[in-house]
Amino acid sequence: RAKEAGRNRFKVFTERMLETAVDQLTLENDMRRGLKSNEFHLAYQPILNLDNSDLIGFEALARWSHPRRGNIPPSEFIPMAEESGLIIQLGEWVLRKALETLAQWREKSPGAENVYMSVNLSSKQFTRLELDKMVVKALKDHDLPPSCLQLEITESAIMDNTESAIRSLHRLRKAGIHFSIDDFGTGYSSLSQLQQLPVDTLKVDRAFISRMKTDPENMEIVRAVIALAHSLELNVIAEGVEDPDQLCSLMDLNCQCVQGFFFHEPMTNTKALELIERRSNKGSGTSKNKLEQA
Ligand code: C2E
Ligand code: MG
Ligand code: MG
Ligand code: MG
Repeated sequence: RAKEAGRNRFKVFTERMLETAVDQLTLENDMRRGLKSNEFHLAYQPILNLDNSDLIGFEALARWSHPRRGNIPPSEFIPMAEESGLIIQLGEWVLRKALETLAQWREKSPGAENVYMSVNLSSKQFTRLELDKMVVKALKDHDLPPSCLQLEITESAIMDNTESAIRSLHRLRKAGIHFSIDDFGTGYSSLSQLQQLPVDTLKVDRAFISRMKTDPENMEIVRAVIALAHSLELNVIAEGVEDPDQLCSLMDLNCQCVQGFFFHEPMTNTKALELIERRSNKGSGTSKNKLEQA
C-alpha cells in the first residue's frame, strides 16, 4: 500500500514536471513566433531631473501581448528568454525598436533632442562579441548620435562575465554610449570595481526606495548610495518613486533624478511623444506641479 501510494505520488510528481517542461517549451516557441508576428511592443517610462523638473529620458520596457494568455509580464518572459538564449533576438529587437521610436520623436518634435533612450541589457547579451558592433550599427541605421543612448546593466551582468564584459563596456563607452547600473544595491559589485567601470549613472533599486519610510536603515542605504554617486561623480536615479514622502526624502538627500509611478507609469509611444511636446511648449510641465504639491 505504502509502495503504491509512493508510486502514485511519483507519478503525479513526474507528470507535473513534464507539464512545467512542456509549458516552458510552448512558451519558448510562442516567444519565437511572437517575435516574428508583432506580439511584442515597448512601453516608455519618463526619467526626470529633480533640480529643474526637466524630462531627461525614457526607459524602454518590453511588453508581450500573448494571443491566448494575454499580457505576460517581463518578470516571466525575460528570465525565460535568458535561459533559452532568445534574449539575444529579443534584446536586439528592443534596442532597434527603441531607437526607431526615438528617431521618430526627433523628427516630429524638437524637444526630443534633449531626451535620451535607456535600454536594458541582459547579462547574456554581454557574452556576444558582436554586441558593440550591433549597437553602433543600430544607432547608425537610425541616424542617431551615440549620446542619446543609455544602456542599463546590472551588477550581476558585470560579475557574470567580468573581463569580456568590461572590455565591451569600454569599447561602447569610447563610441560615446552611456551606461547606468540598474537595480543598484541589490548585487555584489565592489567599490573598486565600480570605480573602474566606465559607467555614468547609478539607478537605486526600487526596493530601497519603497522601504525608506518604514525602515530607517533603508533611508541610510539610499543616503549612502547617493553620497557614493556624488563622490564618484556619477548621476543617480531613484527608481520606483511612488509617493510624495519618498520624493521629499529624496530631495532632502540631494537625489538628482527620479523615475516612478508618482510621476509617470510606463506609457505608449504616442503618449510619450505628447509628453515631450507638452514639456517643450510649456517649459516645465506636469511634474513641476507634482513637485510643488509635494
Ligand atoms: P527594471 O529595468 O528595473 O525596470 C523598472 C521596472 O519597475 C519596470 O517594471 C517598471 O514598470 C517598474 N516601475 C517603475 N516605476 C515604478 C513604481 O513607482 N512602482 C512600481 N511598483 N514599479 C515601478 P517592468 O516593466 O515590469 O520590468 C521589470 C524588469 O524586467 C525590468 O526591471 C528589467 O529588469 C526587465 N526588463 C523589462 N524590459 C526589458 C528588456 O527589454 N530587456 C531586458 N533585458 N530586461 C527587461
Ligand atoms: Mg532598467
Ligand atoms: Mg531597475
Ligand atoms: Mg528593478
